[in-house]
Amino acid sequence: MQYAEIMVRYGELSTKGKNRMRFINQLRRNIQHVLSCYPDISIRATRDRTHIYLNGTDYQLVAQDLTKIFGIQAFSPVYKVEKDLVVLKKAVQTIMQDLYHEGLTFKISTKRSDHSFELDSRDLNQLLGAAVFEVLPKIQAQMKTPDVNLKVEIRDDAAYLSHEEIKGAGGLPVGTSGRGMLMLSGGIDSPVAGYLALKRGVAIEAVHFASPPYTSPGALKKAQDLTRQLTKFGGNIQFIEVPFTEIQEEIKEKTPEAYLMTLTRRFMMRITDAIREARQGMVIINGESLGQVASQTLESMQAINAVTNTPVIRPVVTMDKLEIIELAQAIDTFDISIQPFEDCCTIFAPDRPKTNPKLKNVEQYEARLDVEGLVARAVAGIKVTEITPQIEQDQVTDLIDQLL
Ligand code: ATP
Ligand code: MG
Repeated sequence: MQYAEIMVRYGELSTKGKNRMRFINQLRRNIQHVLSCYPDISIRATRDRTHIYLNGTDYQLVAQDLTKIFGIQAFSPVYKVEKDLVVLKKAVQTIMQDLYHEGLTFKISTKRSDHSFELDSRDLNQLLGAAVFEVLPKIQAQMKTPDVNLKVEIRDDAAYLSHEEIKGAGGLPVGTSGRGMLMLSGGIDSPVAGYLALKRGVAIEAVHFASPPYTSPGALKKAQDLTRQLTKFGGNIQFIEVPFTEIQEEIKEKTPEAYLMTLTRRFMMRITDAIREARQGMVIINGESLGQVASQTLESMQAINAVTNTPVIRPVVTMDKLEIIELAQAIDTFDISIQPFEDCCTIFAPDRPKTNPKLKNVEQYEARLDVEGLVARAVAGIKVTEITPQIEQDQVTDLIDQLL
């Protein structure tokens, strides 16, 4: 027997009162994005659950993708059969025979939304239960905690059977908590930060600073690949490439070594904030982790953060590096992150960055630069592309070209 549909149950949504439909519709759109590579699938969302009609698509593949989408509490694959007692009995027998092993306990839970059906749910439970005993005389019925709870639903168009429930990713549907700008390097931490923001429903746009020719096309592609990996949790993400070469050269020329990092970070923060404002984002998200490197002491964070009042979410700020790595491995970003392409910050990184930069000094050094002009030119030069969960055909061609 082949699964006909997948029934999706919502997570924390149930507590969301009158916003419920907004949440459900957002989740439907996210599922649509993530599953867009399966052309035959169709999706219908209702107040209580979302139905994904497979129309012949492989269940295992779809299930794998579904387990990643935030806002799904659990889902069940469902068989569809004709609303005929003989057919129903045969289906129930086949399913239970497939599942059977010695000592297995079961129960049948029927729900009848088509009230014109010839038997009511109690009679159906008895009839189908008896049909199971006919083929498996040693099986035991168990009402409280059966190993298998075979759910039978009589709807208007057909009967639907399911017995399996797969745990979803939990969290909130991406987009239901507003939008934030993720400062995405090619490193290990920022993709994990992005993942955690997505988990709580923040739709992210990925802001990546590139400094060609100091940084390679490989570094840019790495950031894009990381973004694509993040689309698996809730759908398409806008990737924003910021030209950062002029600023890095300017800073390098006019700033004492020890303050290069602080000034660079302040520019990144200002530019990200300007992009956020233009694109109606509400927060900035980054991958800073306390004490990990010189730019991530509390003193540094204070000096860098001083350029904006916008809330900055730092999802991995209190995590140990090993904890971040574990999560990066679990969400499949780690292997991309460790590809050896230089980031703009590594290239211009001073040997001994200041771990306790003084705001007074920072401001004095910045006075040597045309801060506004530099920021405005970088913002004017951004390139925005939409990243989708699957590689587009022209990208495949590019990849093949690169390999040849
Ligand atoms: P990551 O692993 O995310 O690169 P990191 O430990 O290397 O972090 P830093 O290099 O100090 O730390 O960067 C701190 C944060 O600044 C990053 O997590 C990221 O959010 C942001 N950032 C750094 N470089 C870039 C970049 N080229 N483009 C966008 N954001 C960046
Ligand atoms: Mg980094």
